[in-house]
Amino acid sequence: MNKILITGGAGFLGSHLADKLLEKNNEVLAVDNFFTGSKRNIAHLANNPHFEFMRHDVTFPLYIETNQIYNLACPASPVHYQYDPVQTTKTSVHGAINMLGLAKRTRAKILQASTSEVYGDPEVHPQTEEYWGRVNPIGIRSCYDEGKRCAETLFFDYHRQHALDIKVVRIFNTYGPRMHPNDGRVVSNFIVQALKGEAITIYGDGSQTRSFCYVDDLIEAMVRMMNTSQDITGPINIGNPTEHTMLDLAEMVLRMCQSQSKLVYMPLPSDDPKQRKPDISKAQTALDWTPKVSIEDGLKETVSYFKKLLNE
Ligand code: NAD
Ligand code: UDP
Ligand code: UDP
Repeated sequence: MNKILITGGAGFLGSHLADKLLEKNNEVLAVDNFFTGSKRNIAHLANNPHFEFMRHDVTFPLYIETNQIYNLACPASPVHYQYDPVQTTKTSVHGAINMLGLAKRTRAKILQASTSEVYGDPEVHPQTEEYWGRVNPIGIRSCYDEGKRCAETLFFDYHRQHALDIKVVRIFNTYGPRMHPNDGRVVSNFIVQALKGEAITIYGDGSQTRSFCYVDDLIEAMVRMMNTSQDITGPINIGNPTEHTMLDLAEMVLRMCQSQSKLVYMPLPSDDPKQRKPDISKAQTALDWTPKVSIEDGLKETVSYFKKLLNE
């Protein structure tokens, strides 16, 4: 049986990953400091004898035994990662060093949840893994973008210097049940606003694009990546290449929620990328994976999750 560590295990993606790995008969240890995660996301696992939870901040060393590490700890929403930007960089950088040190001692395989943000506001569209990105090193998004870029550097240096078995996935915008209602990311914001009949907040003119992947597709790709042979390190883009403007998304959400909410236009935050869409050819080949869930089906699941949550 694999003993698998998930950092950020009480978060949106981490908790879904825990479910998937437990389903496949693994032992799972989730660590989280509950900065953006919640007990609610893992409450259903409390009595599972193969699941253990530890409250821990990854910027501090962690001595446990494990043979696989999924490193997901890091706030992912701009609102939350900008709340304490110094801690955000520490989480990515010190967190990576500690988890890589742990992988080195235990000889565990280690996967990094990197991000499409390493491409910044890209001039290459769609983004391929070869593109080095266009990132502002001193802006308000830099704590997240540069932290994640430095974490990738550390992963590749531990791989070259200490022969660690590393896997780096660059995750593009992912959504689904268990996103925090106050998460601040666009899908959860629009759905919660539509369900409450509040104005839908469009930042800028709403013409900027993102490509949204449903959580189940994403988790499947992550697990496949962890199980690839040692010669596959990534970085590999994972996401759904179907691109939408934020106005498109607002319209879809309003329709699905049968909501009369009005749109309200607000200033575009600085350094907000204008377009984003993954080239997933590498994932298709290396992982034999392609996303299956359409935006309509994914939003339907997500809307019904938030409906239930808001009625509690
Ligand atoms: P999330 O905020 O729900 O999860 C992050 C988790 O990490 C939370 O449970 C939080 O409490 C925990 N955490 C934060 N700092 C920590 C620390 N110092 N020590 C221990 N735990 C800490 O966000 P998510 O969407 O589930 O993202 C998970 C990972 O995937 C993140 O690393 C994020 O950067 C990456 N990612 C997500 C997306 C996406 O669209 N969901 C896209 C790209 C990358
Ligand atoms: N570390 C950890 N758990 C371990 C082994 C190491 O948290 O099981 C941390 C430790 O704090 C160390 C960091 O990982 O500072 C990097 O470890 P490494 O062995 O690469 O470096 P060194 O200990 O030589 O600084
Ligand atoms: N956005 C928006 N309204 C919101 C939240 C976000 O128009 O209430 C926009 C945001 O400016 C960005 C896009 O939606 O252009 C995606 O934002 P999110 O924070 O979800 O992810 P990221 O910018 O990190 O891709």
